[in-house]
Amino acid sequence: MTATNKTKSTLETQGNLASGEAYQVAHLGPLDKIEQYPLVLPDREVRGKVFIKDLIGTTGSEISINKLPAGGAVPFSHAHKQNEEVYLFVKGQGQMAIDEDVFEVKEGSIVRLAPRAVRCLRNNGQEDLYFIVIQTKEGSLGQHTFDDGIRLEHKINW
Ligand code: ZN
Repeated sequence: MTATNKTKSTLETQGNLASGEAYQVAHLGPLDKIEQYPLVLPDREVRGKVFIKDLIGTTGSEISINKLPAGGAVPFSHAHKQNEEVYLFVKGQGQMAIDEDVFEVKEGSIVRLAPRAVRCLRNNGQEDLYFIVIQTKEGSLGQHTFDDGIRLEHKINW
């Protein structure tokens, strides 16, 4: 893997990446400290958002781990060209704006967005808002769950 941003190189420097023949592992550490991994964009630096594709080499999805502080908001609305997104809210509370709708989200909320949906998010709560965003190509899921899983007899040496 090649270093493409400071997030990855920071993790590499700290020894928080590992891999085997058929797996990759990243250890971000406590999620309340993910600001330590800056996301470097061409025009600015973002704190509190870690994309994992380049960390662990995903090939069918892009996933981000996010922390939005109390009173914070994503600074722009956006849509996508071909990827749908699923937002999994893990802790805290906030509001999502999707097209002309605004609704509350909180721990346990799960939101699926079609690529064309115009979306934004703010934290109007009193504590940090934690959420995970999963991007996958809309319509790409051919088989899933029990169709794709294969149960194996395999001795585990814990
Ligand atoms: Zn997005």
